[in-house]
Amino acid sequence: MVQPHILLVTFPAQGHINPCLQLAKRLLSTGVRVTVATSHFAIRRMKNGYEDGYKSRDDVHHYMDELKRVGSLSLSDFIASNTKQGNGFTCIVYSILIPWVANVGRAHDIPTTLFWNQTATMFAIYYFYFKGYGDIIRNNIEDQSFSVSLPGLPDLTTRDLPSFFIPSNQYAFALPSFKEQFDILDEETNPTLLVNTYDALESEVFKAIDEYNMVGIGPLIPSAFLGGYNKEYMEWLNAKPKSSVIYVSFGSISVLSKPQMEELARGLLDTGRPFLWVIRAKEGGEEEEELEKQGKIVPWCSQVEVLSHASVGCFVTHCGWNSTFESLCSGVPTVAFPQWTDQTTNAKLIEDVWKTGVRVNHNEEGIVEGSEIKRCLEIVLGGEEMRRNARKWKELAREAAKEGGSSNKNLKDFVDQIAKGC
Ligand code: UDP
Repeated sequence: MVQPHILLVTFPAQGHINPCLQLAKRLLSTGVRVTVATSHFAIRRMKNGYEDGYKSRDDVHHYMDELKRVGSLSLSDFIASNTKQGNGFTCIVYSILIPWVANVGRAHDIPTTLFWNQTATMFAIYYFYFKGYGDIIRNNIEDQSFSVSLPGLPDLTTRDLPSFFIPSNQYAFALPSFKEQFDILDEETNPTLLVNTYDALESEVFKAIDEYNMVGIGPLIPSAFLGGYNKEYMEWLNAKPKSSVIYVSFGSISVLSKPQMEELARGLLDTGRPFLWVIRAKEGGEEEEELEKQGKIVPWCSQVEVLSHASVGCFVTHCGWNSTFESLCSGVPTVAFPQWTDQTTNAKLIEDVWKTGVRVNHNEEGIVEGSEIKRCLEIVLGGEEMRRNARKWKELAREAAKEGGSSNKNLKDFVDQIAKGC
């Protein structure tokens, strides 16, 4: 039998690239060949050693259009030249926000599979939005008391729904892309969808959707490629008592306002606890010197390594799905501080479904005050129940990923299905 060759195409943001690289590794371990493709810009950025975030969101619509236009052409050329050299692809797997990849695959007669790199819950929310619940959500989303019941999901209020549903939100740019994605899926019969979750974590959601063959293949946790930077912070962690350190990170894109940074600093200092804080635009200066009397500030770190360190007792997170999943799989409870996109829904799941953390409240000016941050930290650091729950999900994640576990089996079934087409 010919060895299957999978082309894995990822949207060029770090939170997409990380799980795609891990997926590539898992696929390689099943014996297939894998090629990963993303934008030149993303590769240059990774070579710089860390993610520096988007500089501006003003032209994000334009960016999405250009990515589609230029990406379609160069991807098509790439596929054609590989085919010509006898190095063609059996299947294309692509991450979210680049649905046009499916059209490129079809033009070359190559089957495509969506890799949904958010929760199954997020997939279900968009699914129901485009299939019957769109009007009710659109008409009520700006009403703070609005709540919607979707099959298989907990009741969701405005603050739990993805920010892309709020029309006035400047970040609503992704909705057309999700619409295009569902239109593409609708042209197929019962398509398989690989989801970065595991079955037991979202079992009710899997049951609620039968139009697609959704399979959990997570956790896909980043590892070695992020290493190699200055690891002085690991020595700093080594010297701290067990479960004493607060780890703080807002991922690779989100930027907090200056007043919000000040409140966060105040909350952290008021706990009297050591903290490791990722500030991507770390500048030095007096304020940082003051903070470093109690904590440590780094521009980037190897997050999975940090989360698995015994001295880390709590994670203040923006609730990006990778960070959320990494904390669940490391058994670290969280203070959920969501910013946008799926993060609001992930915060809901953390607090009310998986029960591994507490979500912060904003004041009327939209700021989370230092006293609120301290309050949440004390609940999370003081409570045994959240830690116990986090440990439970960590164990279940290991079960899912090990030989014969649900995610391991789901991925192998997928590869077998592809190999039949060879
Ligand atoms: N990350 C990291 N070091 C840092 C900050 C983030 O390795 O200092 C990684 C983190 O482990 C995660 C990814 O960057 O895998 C961020 O993805 P996520 O989905 O959490 O958030 P996004 O950056 O997409 O908002």
